[in-house]
Amino acid sequence: MTDLEYLGWNPFFASNFAPYERDGLIPGRIAIEQKTHFLVATAGGELRASLAGKLRFETRGEEDVPGVGDWVALRPTPGERTATIIHVLPRKSKFSRKAVGRESVEQTVAANIDVIFLINAIDRTFNLRRLERYLVLAAGSGARPAVVLNKSDLCADLSGVLNDVRAVTAQVPVYVMSAARGEGLDVIRTSLGIGVTGAFLGPSGVGKSTIINRLLGLAKLKTSEVRDYDGKGRHTTSHREMVVLPSGGILIDTPGMRELQLWEADEGIQEVFEEIESLAAACRFRDCHHNQEPDCAVRKALEEGTLDEGRYTSYLKLQREIERQSRKYDTRAQALEKERTKRLTSHHKRSYKKK
Ligand code: GDP
Ligand code: ZN
Repeated sequence: MTDLEYLGWNPFFASNFAPYERDGLIPGRIAIEQKTHFLVATAGGELRASLAGKLRFETRGEEDVPGVGDWVALRPTPGERTATIIHVLPRKSKFSRKAVGRESVEQTVAANIDVIFLINAIDRTFNLRRLERYLVLAAGSGARPAVVLNKSDLCADLSGVLNDVRAVTAQVPVYVMSAARGEGLDVIRTSLGIGVTGAFLGPSGVGKSTIINRLLGLAKLKTSEVRDYDGKGRHTTSHREMVVLPSGGILIDTPGMRELQLWEADEGIQEVFEEIESLAAACRFRDCHHNQEPDCAVRKALEEGTLDEGRYTSYLKLQREIERQSRKYDTRAQALEKERTKRLTSHHKRSYKKK
């Protein structure tokens, strides 16, 4: 095992990196994203890196802007612990948000995640429909989902909950645990072997920090903070966003990941509501909304009782939400694209003048 392999390096990244190696660049994985720079884990320790000007000005979108978990090709500064990020290697998976930013409209929240744990609390707040939303969010990311049912100590009817959950999870594995009691966490350690990257998704309060702290063997998440210096040489403390677990795997926990919203994953709905999508193929109209339309196969299944009413309602609601949000995003994206072209043109003008 090389140091890089402990960070998740594998033949996929190695073959994509080969051309850059010939140019004297070194590979590294982004561990923390800060306002002005990145902290990048490399075989020779952590380097403080900034984006090459080319990446900052010529990015067409998410492909070139790195996020935590990304593998990058770096040019190290001789004699210093700093480097320049020259290129972002192709990703195996990606979670992004269509946030409104200065440089691009899509922002990578976390990249190259192998397993995405969908964390739920099975106390009185447990909500099957919310789990469905997270399944939709995970589908289409490229990461393998796993459902975690935490706070099992607060659940009076575990087999009932499991039945409900299994009805919506299909092939996705389901893990039951109590992070507070330290029970059942080994399944997470096992699914995150050496070099395997995991991340947690779930609403606040379900126990994500408690689980992470247990995995790290820490009492408080605070302990995982790192020390760093900001651009002006001031001392700052930041939360470590990518850590290697004592048991082997790698964990990514970024604020952006915790804030991800459903509409940032458009395609997943087909996968998660497969039974409805396949019924819809038999509707008379290709663009049937399964509401009032004649010869609607989905409504027919509902009336005959072969389709679950809760699933149907949840499907319609999620679809409407995604449509509404993407419309909003499209309008905003158009405006930003215009602004960006303007800014780029003036940047080019400036650099021509210099010559
Ligand atoms: P996060 O917002 O998802 O990071 O959730 P936290 O880890 O901060 O947990 C929220 C609350 O739930 C805290 O008070 C935890 O102590 C508590 N908690 C976490 N896991 C469990 C559990 O398995 N059982 C019980 N009863 N409480 C838990
Ligand atoms: Zn229909």
